[in-house]
Amino acid sequence: MAIADIHAFLQDLHTQLKPLSEGQLACYIPELAKADPHWFGLSLVTLDGRSFDVGDAQQTFTIQSISKVFVYGMALEDYGRENLLKKVGVEPTGDPFNSLIRLDADSKRPDNPMVNAGAIATTSLITGKAPADRLNRLLAMFKRYVGREVFIDMSTFLSERATGHRNRAMAHLMLNFGMIDEHIDEALDLYFQQCSVLVNVHDLAVMAATLANQGVNPLTGEQAVGSEHVRDILSVMYTCGMYNFAGEWAFRVGIPAKSGVSGGIIAVVPNQAGIAVFSPLLDEHGNSVRGLRVFEALSKQYGFHLFDLCLGRCRFEAALQGPGGPC
Ligand code: GLU
Repeated sequence: MAIADIHAFLQDLHTQLKPLSEGQLACYIPELAKADPHWFGLSLVTLDGRSFDVGDAQQTFTIQSISKVFVYGMALEDYGRENLLKKVGVEPTGDPFNSLIRLDADSKRPDNPMVNAGAIATTSLITGKAPADRLNRLLAMFKRYVGREVFIDMSTFLSERATGHRNRAMAHLMLNFGMIDEHIDEALDLYFQQCSVLVNVHDLAVMAATLANQGVNPLTGEQAVGSEHVRDILSVMYTCGMYNFAGEWAFRVGIPAKSGVSGGIIAVVPNQAGIAVFSPLLDEHGNSVRGLRVFEALSKQYGFHLFDLCLGRCRFEAALQGPGGPC
């Protein structure tokens, strides 16, 4: 199979899945309910910088929970893994992303950085003298991954800030139990801002490809995060990245991934590619319905599952190299 076939395969998947109308828009954040349910874009970026974009690849949307992956990387850099582990665990919960259930006197720290409680705690650890410095550091970090300046969608930020009572409740509970310090309003603002960063599906694939490439953006050559942190980031994505579907995702698709309630999913094929899908209709777990279908098909087609030991690298590399390739 040649490169043209990868593009054709993505195009076919897009055509096949476009008519799906299952799922719901996220409407607990009023701005997200304005999304067009027909939006559907796919992007795959390889480590030698080739991009395969299909469908609504230029449509912008807010990154939402996918931001948690990258802010976690920043916290690892700021704090080091052992210190950070004392503040935020790495245990999957099996509960919904916005659950308050485990925030009690016995829990010393939020379970993991991919659920809202853990993400808010992680964001509260980002260093900087004042809120503007912390925000600027965060935007500079996203810029390294995306390869261009990124901006915050003010309407979504304000919408989340005005309605994010559940997230506020979590922050207050964590403060009550001594899990985070008292600057919770600043931490929540920064968290709502990181969720409101505007991206398109191609940007997300570049970000995923950067993680697949040991932290180096394959398009710009810039180191976005220290390579020593990538293993930890990918481990947490693998075990906790797909809400309370993480186990089934690991079983079916088998690559580190993260999804967000605006309908994005990123997945990292270590040493090979970054892949992203955007389609805002969500299933009951909060994962993009079309997105799940795309990744299941891709994983099967190219043997991406990390434990697909025979097919793994071979099929995809053969597809990239075309006839005369390694397999
Ligand atoms: N900003 C959203 C929230 O805090 C992110 C949720 C998500 O994408 O999972 O609820």
